Amino acid sequence: MKGHRKRVLVTGGAGFLGSHLCERLLERGDDVLCVDNFFTGDKENIAPLFGHPRFELLRHDVTFPLYVEVDQIYNLACPASPIHYQRDPVQTTKTSVLGAINMLGLAKRLKARILQASTSEVYGDPTLHPQPEDYRGNVNPIGPRGCYDEGKRCAETLFFDYHRQHGLDIRVARIFNTYGPRMHPDDGRVVSNFIVQALRGLPLTIYGDGGQTRSFGYVDDLVEGLIRLMDAPPGVTGPINLGNPREFRIRDLAELIRSMSGSTSEMVFLPLPEDDPMQRKPDITKAVALLGWEPTTRLEDGLEKTIDYFARKLGFRPPCHSP
Ligand code: NAD
Ligand code: UDP
Ligand code: UDP
Repeated sequence: MKGHRKRVLVTGGAGFLGSHLCERLLERGDDVLCVDNFFTGDKENIAPLFGHPRFELLRHDVTFPLYVEVDQIYNLACPASPIHYQRDPVQTTKTSVLGAINMLGLAKRLKARILQASTSEVYGDPTLHPQPEDYRGNVNPIGPRGCYDEGKRCAETLFFDYHRQHGLDIRVARIFNTYGPRMHPDDGRVVSNFIVQALRGLPLTIYGDGGQTRSFGYVDDLVEGLIRLMDAPPGVTGPINLGNPREFRIRDLAELIRSMSGSTSEMVFLPLPEDDPMQRKPDITKAVALLGWEPTTRLEDGLEKTIDYFARKLGFRPPCHSP
């Protein structure tokens, strides 16, 4: 809209991805309202934004109604790492489902465009590889990951029903494993675990035999993808996979992080958690065609920035990464 700055709501804005998104939206001139209940979010993530004249923070739980006036909504509120989302699984489902209903109700009243941060977890332990968006997944609804996977699947259902029933302008991004500065040091995700263990000289904990795969996307690429999806022409609803198609075995990731951290940590093999997906890799054909988006950050470059971030945060001198 000419002469009108966009007012953008980011739920979960104090989290890892949300804080990077808030920063990018402010940089391009939007007004940003960050809503977060600080379940896993950290004020430190958004502390640099506090003095910004176009930034506002509201402590609020999205499972309760929210009445604000905005033009666009990015719905990111939800714990994302297995140990966080399994800590209070009922609240995790409520956050995805009631949070989606409230944010969709808000978008409906305002006629605002709304984007859902969905996940590759909707594919569960996939039997098709790589995963295109029309793959319907293989999720265990009653397992320990169900609260997250099924909550996110139901949120997608709600988004598409509000779209069909009420004509809402929706966007659904299926985000694959993302890493970068501001991940929680103790959230149990593989990249943060390995980096923190390597820097501290502790054993790197490989679950199972480490033969399972993931595809890791750097946070800056992901944020670019989210913004492109939000700004894409009407009708581009998604779901659209956003992730890096370069696939890694977990034990190879451990090796790479150990060597890039200049660490002599040993590796230990621990039991594989229940329902842990064996492989995951996005088919990003749609993102390339519809958004002109593909990741540009090499894993080695993204890891370098992430290792330096953790080294500073934990009080170590950043290691020399060159071999
Ligand atoms: P995060 O845990 O760092 O951020 C989530 C944020 O949501 C936190 O600030 C938390 O306090 C907030 N939150 C949780 N419940 C809330 C509630 N009921 N009301 C208000 N705020 C609430 O996680 P993240 O990695 O930044 O993930 C952000 C979003 O992206 C999540 O929806 C997640 O499911 C999705 N996602 C992330 C990844 C990834 O690899 N990081 C992959 C797929 C999808
Ligand atoms: N809602 C909200 N903010 C708004 C409008 C609605 O949080 O500005 C919530 C409200 O609590 C409602 C939910 O969104 O329960 C769904 O709204 P909708 O209009 O779709 O349904 P209804 O109000 O008819 O239940
Ligand atoms: N993993 C591991 N060691 C760790 C943490 C995780 O081997 O210290 C494995 C985990 O079993 C999974 C993969 O790394 O196979 C990715 O785990 P993460 O929790 O980061 O993401 P998700 O399983 O949700 O994709």
